Amino acid sequence: MSRTPEADRKTIIVVGGVAAGASAAAKARREDEGAEIIVFERGEHVSFANCGLPYFVGDEIKRRGALLLQTPASLKSRFNLDVLTRHEVTEIRPEARQVVARDLRTGAEVVRTYDRLILATGSRPVVPPLEGIGSRNVKLLRTVPEAEELKEMVGGGARRAVVVGAGFIGLEAAENLARRGLAVTVVEKAAQVLPPFDPEMVVPVEESLRAMGVELVIGRGIAGFETNGDVAVGVRLDGGGTIAADFFVLSIGARPDVELAKKAGVAIGPSGGIAVNERLETSVPGIYAAGDAVEVRHLVSGRPAWIPLAGPANKQGRVAGANAAGGSLTFKGAYGTSIVRVGKVAAAKTGLGEAECLRAGFDYTVTYNHHGDHAGYYPGAEELTIKIISERGTGRLLGAQVVGGRGVDKRADVLATAIYGGLTVEDLEQLDLAYAPPFGAAKDPVIMAGMTTANIFRGQVVAVTPAEVARLIEAGRSPGPQVVDVRDPREWREGTIPGAVGLPLPELRERLGELDPARETIVYCRGGQRSYFAYRVLRQSGFRDVKNLTGGFLSWTAFQKSRP
Ligand code: FAD
Repeated sequence: MSRTPEADRKTIIVVGGVAAGASAAAKARREDEGAEIIVFERGEHVSFANCGLPYFVGDEIKRRGALLLQTPASLKSRFNLDVLTRHEVTEIRPEARQVVARDLRTGAEVVRTYDRLILATGSRPVVPPLEGIGSRNVKLLRTVPEAEELKEMVGGGARRAVVVGAGFIGLEAAENLARRGLAVTVVEKAAQVLPPFDPEMVVPVEESLRAMGVELVIGRGIAGFETNGDVAVGVRLDGGGTIAADFFVLSIGARPDVELAKKAGVAIGPSGGIAVNERLETSVPGIYAAGDAVEVRHLVSGRPAWIPLAGPANKQGRVAGANAAGGSLTFKGAYGTSIVRVGKVAAAKTGLGEAECLRAGFDYTVTYNHHGDHAGYYPGAEELTIKIISERGTGRLLGAQVVGGRGVDKRADVLATAIYGGLTVEDLEQLDLAYAPPFGAAKDPVIMAGMTTANIFRGQVVAVTPAEVARLIEAGRSPGPQVVDVRDPREWREGTIPGAVGLPLPELRERLGELDPARETIVYCRGGQRSYFAYRVLRQSGFRDVKNLTGGFLSWTAFQKSRP
């Protein structure tokens, strides 16, 4: 076996030993068997499954050991990595190519010289300086010890918990605490749960939380904690009111952990993450960065973005590790594909939401599509709602959100792949997807969503969203639009759009005379398909200004529920 002579031996140092850091170190080893590879990790554990922590608290993952994907010993024996846990890197000296680390157990200082340095420092939780926030039962959920403490409190008889923040981690915590039988309240400052999603798409998530017995306090921030000694007994809300609980989980966001990088003169990008190129090189020669600490290019908007997710972190670690060891890989960017389970509902998002499209200056079209996850004639189909956002002039897919029961993950991933490929809504119509009745439909929900949206793109139908219909109705014009409900009369009992006239689709052709062809006409049904058929009838019968309500009454209802 040939060995690298000691003098030519490269030293690669990695700061941070979880998703990005452990991936980087292991990949560097695969590239360069001769290198010395050292990982400094501040915490007690390396390469642990942070994404699994909420499910450990919820007891779906029973064994703590299952969360520890690797240990320093296993990384030594498998990859010959020198992993130093409880070692915090406190300083980087780029001119000398040195890092200074402190052994947190002994206080001793360690100075090591590197040829290549990889910063994988992750993110830091937002912990505002509020009264009582340091109480011993106000907890974060980011590390194995923190998850263990939460699990102990649940097992130790706690009955009430408040989760502050309704992002992914907050909702996963709430779901799992509710599964353990606790009375859970979620407090969220924004006007909705899952703020990256469009508001009408999270209505089923909020309903699912309530169905699990979780109380939602939406649109309220927190002002501090009421305490008894070092124990918090209640959380005070902005604008008054206190919610009592046995413990509190704080999950109000995170920021890229860039302090060390900043002190070393590494450039920080506009999103607050470390600026890197496609090779994940920072502005300082010899220093790479990966994971939640870095800023990426958003592959839809083309703009710098901070996307703290496990997929990008692991892939970036691999790229940084390869390149630090002399390889040549690239990381092109990310676009925030994400998913969360909340009770019986899953919610996924890929690419841009509407608010992000507006900020990025896109002119876009929206469609809502409701379909079963598999053929309706095969038992047990669960409904999915797919929101497609596409660029008006080109039909390019800009973003998608999928919410519902079974099969959300598969549709989100197909749409995520389509976004990466730069596909248009007409391409979605052409996809050749796997089908047998237990799995999907001959026209899969994604293909149906593509067809609906491509019809608009080609000008075969003019669509309006629930928000646009509400604006038209509320503008109070006289005469306003004639709104035609083409559902079956028994469906009208579920409610109707104010001022709508009922004209069931099977009777439409004979009763056309009851409508005014010169007026702006909006047609709707339950989900948007029967009204599309009505649209085609009307357009070919002399009605010039017809619009189909995308997503029908289902989306109208979700929109109404999401209004502040
Ligand atoms: P981290 O995993 O945060 O690791 C950074 C490490 O660097 C830390 O251990 C830290 O101690 C160490 N460090 C920092 N500074 C120093 C220093 N100066 N010296 C030494 N060590 C240092 N993402 C998903 O995509 N899907 C999910 O379902 C999901 N669920 C999640 C659930 C939870 C509870 C949490 C907390 C996160 C979840 N994430 C999820 C996010 C995902 O875990 C992160 O995106 C990913 O871990 C980022 O990896 P990283 O290596 O960049 O950072």
